[in-house]
Amino acid sequence: MRVEFDRDTCIGMFQCVAEWGDGFEKDEDDGKADLVGGEEVGEDLFAVEVPEGEELDAKFAARSCPVDAIVVYDDDGEQLVP
Ligand code: SF4
Repeated sequence: MRVEFDRDTCIGMFQCVAEWGDGFEKDEDDGKADLVGGEEVGEDLFAVEVPEGEELDAKFAARSCPVDAIVVYDDDGEQLVP
């Protein structure tokens, strides 16, 4: 499972940090979240493989984001959330 995070879209409400504390961190200076271990795959777009056991948290984080800045894909590249 893979997560993509559009940091440009993020408005820093930090629900993702509450839902998936190992996956997202607060960047209070920027007023944005940071995807832990995320690799920059586009302009302000970050991606990471979800570690085993954290799949549910990652999905909850994506569901909780008010601006759909977090997208979860399965291993076949199919979009699961949102
Ligand atoms: S929930 Fe969405 S808008 Fe809020 S900090 Fe996380 S990614 Fe940004």
